[in-house]
Amino acid sequence: MELACLDLEGVLIPEIWIGFAEKTGIDALRATTRDIPDYDVLMRQRLALLQEHKLGLPDIQAVIATMAPLEGATEFVDWLKERFQVIILSDTFYEFSKPLMRQLDFPALFCHRLITNPEGRIVDYKLRQKDPKRQSVKALHSLNFRIIAAGDSYNDTTMLEEADAGILFRAPANVTAEFPQYPAATSYAELKAEFCKASERELMV
Ligand SMILES: [Mg+2]
Repeated sequence: MELACLDLEGVLIPEIWIGFAEKTGIDALRATTRDIPDYDVLMRQRLALLQEHKLGLPDIQAVIATMAPLEGATEFVDWLKERFQVIILSDTFYEFSKPLMRQLDFPALFCHRLITNPEGRIVDYKLRQKDPKRQSVKALHSLNFRIIAAGDSYNDTTMLEEADAGILFRAPANVTAEFPQYPAATSYAELKAEFCKASERELMV
């Protein structure tokens, strides 16, 4: 039995925090783990900025609802679901991703949670576990699935390593250079072809 694991941001949808920063004009929210490598420091800064701008979860969800999946992503997910069980492994939060997941017809998603107070302010966040992408693939292996995984960035590489086959999708040049063992796809047509190649079954693109 084969299962497809996909990263979310950068593979199916735009980077949520960057999109949110653009929509709100709050430039400091554009910071990512590339600028602040410590994820907790980064998240504390983001939550403080939301507080400062008096943005609660409903405001944020309303902004995110105006964002759309990447062009071709919905059709790609439909294609993949016909051929594999599909699970999205992401470092986003359920509360953020919902409006975009709705547009992708709600594939299974393993990610993290935000903690809100009764007024809808985000007061904290809860990571599901450490190294969640690798741990998820390990757990799925224990259920006797063969895993083909695709992602775009550093936080996907432990998932790709743990999977039976890994694929990079629209990864930055430094990532493709550092991980030459993974084929690099730049379009959904190429990504489909890589899934077909990685599968043990005969699949039609
Ligand atoms: Mg990504």
